Amino acid sequence: MHDAAPVGAVIILNYFLKELEPKLFVVSTPIGNLNDITLRAIETLKQVDFIACEDTRVTIKLLSHYEIKKELTSLNAVNESTKINFIIEKILSGKNCALVSDAGTPGISDPGNRLINSAGENGITIVPVPGPSALLAALTISGLPTNSFVFEGFIPLKKGRQKKLLELSNEERTIVIYESVYRIEKLLTELNEYMPGREIVVCRELTKMFEEMWNGKPSELLNVLSTKNIKGEFVIVIAPKSWQQK
Ligand code: SAM
Repeated sequence: MHDAAPVGAVIILNYFLKELEPKLFVVSTPIGNLNDITLRAIETLKQVDFIACEDTRVTIKLLSHYEIKKELTSLNAVNESTKINFIIEKILSGKNCALVSDAGTPGISDPGNRLINSAGENGITIVPVPGPSALLAALTISGLPTNSFVFEGFIPLKKGRQKKLLELSNEERTIVIYESVYRIEKLLTELNEYMPGREIVVCRELTKMFEEMWNGKPSELLNVLSTKNIKGEFVIVIAPKSWQQK
């Protein structure tokens, strides 16, 4: 009769077997400043077999900054349903994949969720490689409560927009919203209608050369906006309904 393998050896063997399994790495990339990338993100992008990215042209720029050459495949809102199977099969055939979006964290108002979900269903190990996201960058500099917050991403453009604004006007947690330059004025006008007394923080071009932050009531922010030539990317952070500035 053979002696049973020592428990420690079995644990170590299992660890190495797990390490050999192909994985999906979910990698955050900069939201503007190319230096905002973790050492582990660079290492992961160098080591994987291929990268699934939102727009190959954007990711090529990032990779060339770090002198990384890698096979890329696009995964975006348009081709997501057809591309997922292709990527999953490639991972299952033994290839490690990194998922990135154009900026920030994949899946946060960006493609990625469906691939991650499908990877989980197929028994693929999913590994986070965390890093930048405009959501947390804005929230953490807003000075508004961070102990409890709600992230709304982009609020509906038309259908359901008024209902959402009404719901947010009663929200007792800090609210974080993404907004495009084309609708920032419209959004502040609506916030002035739905929550005129609320403290709002507008964060523009975070981590970039023209980074700015303005705070005030919606009407005050509309005045600020009217004096500027508005460009760039915005995150809006809204104080909880009952929050009082100390
Ligand atoms: N996945 C990204 C993340 O983790 O933040 C978000 C992608 S979403 C398509 C793009 C939106 O994020 C922009 O419209 C803007 O609201 C916000 N955003 C991204 N980068 C930003 C930046 N540098 N400054 C301010 N807002 C930014």
